[in-house]
Amino acid sequence: MKNKSAIIVGGGINGLCAAYYLHKEGFDVKVIDRGTIENNCSFGNMGFLSPSHFVPLASPGIIAEGVKYLLDSKSPFYIKPRLDLNFIRWGLNFYKNSNQKTVDKNSYPLEDLLKLSRHLMDEIRADLGDVFDMETKGCLMVCHSEDAFEKEKKVADAAANYGLNVVVLDRKEVQEYEPDVELDMAGAVLFTDDAHIHPGKFMLAMKQKLTDLGVHFQLNTEVTGFKKEGQRVKSVLTDKGDYSADEIILSPGSWLGELTHKLGHRLMIQGGKGYSTTYDHIEKNIKYPAILVDGRCAITPWKHTLRIGGTMEFSGLNDKVLVKRMQGIYNSIRKFYPGLKIDFPPLDKIWTGLRPVSPDGLGYIGKFNGYENVNIAGGHAMLGVSCAAGTARIISDLLTNKAPEINISAFDPMRFS
Ligand SMILES: Cc1cc2nc3c(=O)[nH]c(=O)nc-3n(C[C@H](O)[C@H](O)[C@H](O)COP(=O)(O)OP(=O)(O)OC[C@H]3O[C@@H](n4cnc5c(N)ncnc54)[C@H](O)[C@@H]3O)c2cc1C
Repeated sequence: MKNKSAIIVGGGINGLCAAYYLHKEGFDVKVIDRGTIENNCSFGNMGFLSPSHFVPLASPGIIAEGVKYLLDSKSPFYIKPRLDLNFIRWGLNFYKNSNQKTVDKNSYPLEDLLKLSRHLMDEIRADLGDVFDMETKGCLMVCHSEDAFEKEKKVADAAANYGLNVVVLDRKEVQEYEPDVELDMAGAVLFTDDAHIHPGKFMLAMKQKLTDLGVHFQLNTEVTGFKKEGQRVKSVLTDKGDYSADEIILSPGSWLGELTHKLGHRLMIQGGKGYSTTYDHIEKNIKYPAILVDGRCAITPWKHTLRIGGTMEFSGLNDKVLVKRMQGIYNSIRKFYPGLKIDFPPLDKIWTGLRPVSPDGLGYIGKFNGYENVNIAGGHAMLGVSCAAGTARIISDLLTNKAPEINISAFDPMRFS
């Protein structure tokens, strides 16, 4: 019997993981991407696999914090004022969802997805080999001020409700975790269930694995539309020709709105730009990845390599670099880690990527807009790496008529319609 076929639009981490699980289920898979899959958002990110992030982005206080930062050009949050109806609609929905009731509703499904993904990443590592610098030592939430530390300790208490393991470290203890670099912080919470990978190495290793398995990559090819027949998409239209398959999976990251618009219903998504820079030869490096809670940025070590990154900038779908945003990240890192020997990066070493952010901070997983053969996989905002493996496994379950391991109703792509 002929294998079923699938086209995956978008070769970020969500697309590649979907290709991986669908191939395992016997599908003939083609990945279409308008680039070379060597520098999308899935490459220069911080690489955290974060079961600790059970609070979605849309949460109480986020709007007030955003407003507080608006006038500071080095701040971790920026909105470019513009008359864009899609952005205004998204903003109103984000505002509506930034409350405790929605957080209480969404945090458990999010945690289920994060844990599923975390477990699957161990399996993927066992299959691909130890080739993407995965470390399972946890992630530090580091706090410069006593006030932030007190608040983080409350998050640590709540973490127990989600079955997460934490270690609270005072100033002296956290310094003992990082003996080679002088720190300046009130304390930290170590979330021991977290892990981190080198995302670029993961992407290249996964692409190589898929190529070896016979997955076809149709690169430098832009999807421009779809040919529909009743409730099915018959073919995917591109600037290089038309392609058909039994199943279509859309994982174009921040461009989900643009592509789904062509199928009659624009999913609400905004690109939340982040910045990072990577230092290749740090002699005395830190040992633990960390999120700077009151510095609003992050730091990831891989042996002698170090990446710093962060910010959330809503300025549309572009890769324009605002150097002051990177300056804000660099300043925060220097404040928390005064012993790190790093210089401010030149412009050509500043990387940007667009996080696909939905109005409630949860991703979109599952069937789309009444189409029998169109599925969405993505929209996980700042948790796209952490959620990719689980998302992909759920998609492969749905397409092979198996019940997904977790309840996915919270991720329904049609939930805002
Ligand atoms: C600074 C920063 C740090 C981050 N750190 C973390 C972290 O530590 N942990 C974590 O879990 N997440 C993190 N994230 C978020 C994470 O990187 C993203 O959520 C994730 O990479 C999104 O993956 P994706 O596959 O959905 O989309 P992408 O990686 O954006 O891939 C989408 C692909 O679709 C293609 N595409 C789009 N439109 C079309 C079209 N019309 N035709 C053909 N191809 C198309 C694009 O070319 C692209 O290759 C971070 C993000 C940033 C910016």
